[in-house]
Amino acid sequence: MNELTLFFLIFLFLGTSVQFWLSWRHKSYIIKHKNAVPDAFAEKISLENHQNAAIYTTTKLNFGQILLFIEVVILLLWTIGGLLNELDQIWRALEWSELWTGVAVFLSFGLISSLLDLPSSLYSTFHIESKFGFNNTSLRLFIVDLFKSLLLSLIIGIPFIILILWLMAYMGDFWWISVWAVWMGFSLLMLWLYPTVIAPLFNKFKPLEDGELKQKIEHLLEKNGFASKGIFIMDGSKRSGHGNAYFTGLGNNKRIVFFDTLLETLNADEVIAVLAHEVGHFKRKHITKRIISMSILTLLSLAFLGWLMKQDWFYTGLGIETASTYMALLLFSLALPIFTFFLQPVVAWISRKHEFEADDFAAEQAHPSHLIQALVKLYKDNANTLTPDPLYSAFYDSHPPAPVRVNHLLAKIDSAPSFDAAKK
Ligand SMILES: [Zn+2]
Repeated sequence: MNELTLFFLIFLFLGTSVQFWLSWRHKSYIIKHKNAVPDAFAEKISLENHQNAAIYTTTKLNFGQILLFIEVVILLLWTIGGLLNELDQIWRALEWSELWTGVAVFLSFGLISSLLDLPSSLYSTFHIESKFGFNNTSLRLFIVDLFKSLLLSLIIGIPFIILILWLMAYMGDFWWISVWAVWMGFSLLMLWLYPTVIAPLFNKFKPLEDGELKQKIEHLLEKNGFASKGIFIMDGSKRSGHGNAYFTGLGNNKRIVFFDTLLETLNADEVIAVLAHEVGHFKRKHITKRIISMSILTLLSLAFLGWLMKQDWFYTGLGIETASTYMALLLFSLALPIFTFFLQPVVAWISRKHEFEADDFAAEQAHPSHLIQALVKLYKDNANTLTPDPLYSAFYDSHPPAPVRVNHLLAKIDSAPSFDAAKK
């Protein structure tokens, strides 16, 4: 125990308290506004839908609070509680080389953590999501998914961790530069491989059939110089009733993916508007910016770790007796989020700024009313709350709250700033 222990506990306590407080605020705000649909949505969303969304959101918040408490206890047990040290000593007793001991510690820690996550994942899928009619995952599919992702993380994760630990041990004082290069190369490779190799292991992707919609989409993409490997429909309904659209991949290996659940509810104009929003992220270079800032942050963190791992207090302060390369990396990944928690609002703010920019772009490419209609359908189908607590939303939300986003788009409809203009 030393000053680091104290700082760690203070930050953990502050961060956790803020999370509980925001969650409580958000819940009260939703409950307070549950009996009236906000004006801008009154024609499109029924009071029943609105109230259902309120119950759904507060149910998830309640569960999130229990989960948060459990996570904090688990983190404390691993670190200051000495469990990670216990695990380390068990593997050390085998007297393997430091590299293989490290791999064993990482693997066993990963497996235990996945096991600990299992009950909450089961409860959220088969109790909460089922209760609100969103869950389509069968227990069989859940188990198959679990084994697939476990196998995948072993196949990808083991060589990766061996390489990283090897570089850390043998590349001298400036190991963090080579680790950074490998880390970035690996992340970009995964991003590039994801649409064609990884995602198809879990879902079926079928190309969008020829027709008017496809023509419109291709026109939009061509006009904006968006090179892609095609537009695909994903069988998202296999697992859940939630709908979404995204684009994925890197360089020439980009794909646009629509959940089948989303295509069912949107008409052609609305699909184009959603797509235009996604293309907006690409045109405004959001992905490139995100990759560059991530790479800078990774480099800085690794350089910091390079210094930190030579300090004895770093290990003893977090409950570890024997200093080692692998333990430095593991402790760092556990403790860093506790100290960077208060940067969360900045990250969320940048993300919301990007969402507005993408919406602006979409409003230039398609009629803003089409995007509004699509958003309203998305909010409704996903039972998203229309009345988030403003502070909660400012702290966490990657997307602007529903009313703010819709008003922003409404302001772009020159002539008739009302929902009637959006009606067909
Ligand atoms: Zn977006």
